[in-house]
Amino acid sequence: MPPAEVTVYEVGPRDGLQNEAERLPTSVKVELIERLAGAGLPAVEATSFVRPEWVPQLSDASEVMAALTRRPGVRYPVLVPNEAGMRRALESGAREIAVFGSVTESFARRNLNAGVEESLDAFAPVIERGHAEGLRVRGYLSMVFGDPWEGEVEVARVVEVARRMHALGVDELSLGDTIGVATPAHAGRVLDALDGEVPREALAVHFHDTYGQALANVLMALERGITTVDASVGGLGGCPFAGSATGNLATEDLVYMLDGLGVRTGVEIEPLVGVAWWIAGELGLEEPAGRAARALGPPPATIGGG
Ligand code: MG
Repeated sequence: MPPAEVTVYEVGPRDGLQNEAERLPTSVKVELIERLAGAGLPAVEATSFVRPEWVPQLSDASEVMAALTRRPGVRYPVLVPNEAGMRRALESGAREIAVFGSVTESFARRNLNAGVEESLDAFAPVIERGHAEGLRVRGYLSMVFGDPWEGEVEVARVVEVARRMHALGVDELSLGDTIGVATPAHAGRVLDALDGEVPREALAVHFHDTYGQALANVLMALERGITTVDASVGGLGGCPFAGSATGNLATEDLVYMLDGLGVRTGVEIEPLVGVAWWIAGELGLEEPAGRAARALGPPPATIGGG
């Protein structure tokens, strides 16, 4: 039995856009976030306060936050890599932050410029400061299932790093299949191994659809009582390690499945599909990567113009 209610955590404006080659104007990013919140998404990760030269697509993080009209009851978390990023996030009025860790040494060294242990140590003061400021703190763990340099990741290693990260005080821990190689059996093994190590209600899942497994993996997670699922509108954010256009699980594919299961999300699929088509157009893409948006088609008003 799936849970009665699931929190769909939208990552398109951050995880999606940071992995798209095209750079969008600030006003388009703001409209994207506002339209996603308008479609009923309860959490929209808005941007990233990493150093602008690392992720030029999101170098206008402060401007985006300043221009954003916030909807009551909607969370707008921002990614924060270190204490400098934390200061900028606080100045921008962020009320929720996310920190980004890795299970594997290879990815940590290439992407975080530090080893796994070192990067976890560096998060401690950021998380502490966040809590002191009354912020909610999310932790991401990437390469939970497979790593492009190390291959399949040992489940025991995942448990070890997840336990450490949870002990640092994150309120929520998102388990990322960064290269999209997980299958449902593997997803089930990892979640079973985390049982009793990290509270289930503190876990979220972040699947990529590289091999078409994302929804099957989500279903496996729902059966294990996971109630927060990450997704990206239109499947924004191609897979940077597989040369595939299919990266993040598309939010509208997820909502279509959850609707069919009778799981409450508060998200309306019609405006969501409209956002998927609109942002694909802004990025110069022919169509969204997600299946549900393509199946349902662009909203009538945009056919033949607009
Ligand atoms: Mg992702």
